[in-house]
Amino acid sequence: MAQLTTIGQLPLNQPPIHHYTAYRPRPFKREERDKVTILYGGLTWKHERLIQGTLHNMKYNAEPLPNIARDDLDAGKELIDVGACCPTIFTTGSLVNFLKKEVAASSKGEVANKYVFLTAGACGPCRFGQYHESYSMALDGLGLRDFRMFLLAQDELDQGPSGGGGLEINLPLSLGLIWGILFGDLLSDLEYLTRPYEINPGQTDQVLKASVEYLYRVFRERPDHGAKYGTLAWHLLTNYFTNALREVCKMWDVIEVDRLRVKAKVKITGEFWLQTHEGDGNYNIKRWLEQEDAEVVPPPVAVWLHYLLHPTIRKLEHRHSTSKHPRLEQTLLQALERIYRWTYNRFRKALADLPNELPDQEELRELAEPFYHFELRGGEGHMLIGKALHAYHHKKAHMICELSPYSCMPNTMSIGSMANVIGKYPDLLYAPIEVKGDSEVHALSRCQMILTEAKRRAHEQFQEVLKKTGLTVEKIRKYEERHPETRRATHRVPHLGYSGTAANYVLHLAQDRGLARA
Ligand code: SF4
Repeated sequence: MAQLTTIGQLPLNQPPIHHYTAYRPRPFKREERDKVTILYGGLTWKHERLIQGTLHNMKYNAEPLPNIARDDLDAGKELIDVGACCPTIFTTGSLVNFLKKEVAASSKGEVANKYVFLTAGACGPCRFGQYHESYSMALDGLGLRDFRMFLLAQDELDQGPSGGGGLEINLPLSLGLIWGILFGDLLSDLEYLTRPYEINPGQTDQVLKASVEYLYRVFRERPDHGAKYGTLAWHLLTNYFTNALREVCKMWDVIEVDRLRVKAKVKITGEFWLQTHEGDGNYNIKRWLEQEDAEVVPPPVAVWLHYLLHPTIRKLEHRHSTSKHPRLEQTLLQALERIYRWTYNRFRKALADLPNELPDQEELRELAEPFYHFELRGGEGHMLIGKALHAYHHKKAHMICELSPYSCMPNTMSIGSMANVIGKYPDLLYAPIEVKGDSEVHALSRCQMILTEAKRRAHEQFQEVLKKTGLTVEKIRKYEERHPETRRATHRVPHLGYSGTAANYVLHLAQDRGLARA
């Protein structure tokens, strides 16, 4: 029988207990800035290059992690919890593979001193609040406990110096990062609405690359306007960024497109990381859809940032907040929301209004309300239902492709609720794709089944609009010869009630440009 010292104490022959201690990075000191490189990742290469512009502007050495690859899934699986969701596995694996390569080229000590990792953090019911725990578990597994990792809280723009002062999360940094993210979204919209229709294959990608490099320099050369309200006012009111976007618009003007190609329009929704990512992490599904004759509507990160404002506003409206001045706080947040949308629309305008508008968050909430309560947080919450119904009611896409990570708690709930939505709207084309990272054929073939019907509808709509306007493809071609500006990528085709670009284009020529009946 175990021998006890006194009541409540442990048996003497028991091995010592090692209590769990959370990972705490050792300090990253200000004087180390020149020698240390900040690593980051998780978005597209466009967003990451623009973020690098801001970090370079703030005199940090910074480098995005290589784009996620299939190998990262295996590396992540080896080192973190079995039940982790697939984005956690991929992103942890990406950091692991990078560090392994660096250690092989130098040493653990050098790597721990040369790099720090900056990642977004949050709290909440889904695993996003615990990503850093997975990273720290992986660092333990690699014997790199000394490696430094810092969290950038999504809801605090001015967190001040953290962990030794080497990294200062202040307004100029946060605003530069947010502006970079918004610009990454705007460029993605241009990319996806142009490439399926380009006459010269590869031209969109070339112009996109040149635009990203140009805007990287714009962010790198951003003038200094202080650390507080001066910089906020400047970011909101300056023409520095809108002028740069006008230059970008000129770059896109050289691309010639053929919008009479009939494509199924596919709106991508799903879990934040999976829907944003472009690569092996989601089977390169956006490129694959384009090869399958679809036009992709990409999900902007801007919608997520917009969504982040809303739970607090709702809480204040419903008096669930602990704020001492709920009315004042509510008014300020509503004003902030209006400024956010105004800023995004200002940037869109500088790009000839080509990028998509942000959906109204209040409308998303109302559409989702009968199926998914807005206070159920985690992942994209009610937005997945709201976005699907928004696209359906406003005819913004022929089908929805929802990318759901394997082992994702919020997405599992959303897919369950969507079964109810489909029961009510049986003609809503919805493809929920579970992404595990290693079951590509299964996922893509599932998407293809729904896509076949989406393409049929796109062709049907196109024929309908030709009949309605009395136009023929030959007549439109002749008109385009006389009006080459209509074949420019920067020629805006308004949304005139059809889901597909080709159908809207024909109606636009007939209605807005007076192309007469045959
Ligand atoms: S939303 Fe799902 S996939 Fe994303 S972090 Fe949360 S649990 Fe993981």
